[in-house]
Amino acid sequence: MQAVLKDSGLKVTHQRCKLLEFINQVDEQHLTVENIYQGINAQGENIGLTSVYRMMSDFEQAGLVTRRLLESEKTIYELSNKPRHDHLICLTCGKVIDFVDPLIELRLSLAAEHHGMSIHHHSLNMYGQCFECQKAHLNESIT
Ligand SMILES: [Zn+2]
Ligand SMILES: [Zn+2]
Repeated sequence: MQAVLKDSGLKVTHQRCKLLEFINQVDEQHLTVENIYQGINAQGENIGLTSVYRMMSDFEQAGLVTRRLLESEKTIYELSNKPRHDHLICLTCGKVIDFVDPLIELRLSLAAEHHGMSIHHHSLNMYGQCFECQKAHLNESIT
């Protein structure tokens, strides 16, 4: 972690190391600042919410994480070294699912080409209800 921080041009501090370590080890790869704050403090660290905000924005500027703005102005972070992908977002439980569709990628690049745009990045989010939440909803209406 220290080498990663050094390479990105950030000063190596204990808190930054812990934070970066935490983001790399968690299974859930789409994290809000609150998720990160709660998770890291549950591991026995003592890092304030504002510090987490500040460090995540440092990480973003250094290119270590990517910030994505979802509907209702919810912000999530994910590691920048993940391959390009799009998102399915559950409006009920907030789950974020990654997917990749080569056909969508192709259509998008054709559309950009058609309009003479050179593309830096794209963001495609679909909003709805995940499978589990649909099931839960069904059970509710039966009982
Ligand atoms: Zn859901
Ligand atoms: Zn993602």
